Amino acid sequence: MHIMRRKLAAGNWKMNGTHADLGTLRTLAETHDTSPVDILICPPAPLLDRAAQVVEGSPLTIGGQDCHPAASGAHTGDISVAMLADAGATAVIVGHSERRTDHNERNDDVRAKANAAMAEGLMAVICLGESLAEREASNTLDIIAGQMSGSIPDLSTGENLVIAYEPIWAIGTGKVPTTDQIGEVHGFIRTRLERRFGAGVARSVRVLYGGSVKPANAAEIFAVPHVDGALVGGASLTAEDFSPIIAALEAAAG
Ligand code: PEP
Repeated sequence: MHIMRRKLAAGNWKMNGTHADLGTLRTLAETHDTSPVDILICPPAPLLDRAAQVVEGSPLTIGGQDCHPAASGAHTGDISVAMLADAGATAVIVGHSERRTDHNERNDDVRAKANAAMAEGLMAVICLGESLAEREASNTLDIIAGQMSGSIPDLSTGENLVIAYEPIWAIGTGKVPTTDQIGEVHGFIRTRLERRFGAGVARSVRVLYGGSVKPANAAEIFAVPHVDGALVGGASLTAEDFSPIIAALEAAAG
């Protein structure tokens, strides 16, 4: 049985953006108002509520960039999944390499966050990826396998899980793996999903590529088998850059 995966263009604004940048969302919503692909923007937490209001009624949805695994309590500065949902988020990024590095998040932390997100009805966008040293030591697939088994919850489905393969050395650097390298990892992720969850779930989980996706390289990346879209950092900050990337994905969706 063939299961269609709806393609997904996801933007991670990281620690960028204030109220003045919500116009970017308005422009994207107007430009892509009948889009055949899913479009998710993850702005900084203080903008979630207003961003969700701006995109209401459009194909755009809003997500968080991180969450805490606990429901509530003494966790200064953290945000629960219920708070994200209450602000209008339908998804949350977990395990981004900047969180794994800057906040020392381990696979089991990422899994706990993803579990909390899924239990709240949010889609978890779980990030995986190798460092340059790991790639140069030919350890990429072992690292990905370990991150998958450690970070991905057992209750994952095609609706509540998205995987973003983001080689750390490609994030924000302008360096991009070859299409063969991307294809190898994406094919590997699909095979591992099938082994763990069975063919139905494996066929329905979206696997995004992330790392220096730009208007100039998007079409080539979207043509790689098993690439179901992109998680985009820098180039998601303006409609001028993100819109052509979304358009390339719409063209790939046919
Ligand atoms: C990211 O942060 O997820 C990312 C892919 O960043 P960039 O597109 O800027 O490399």
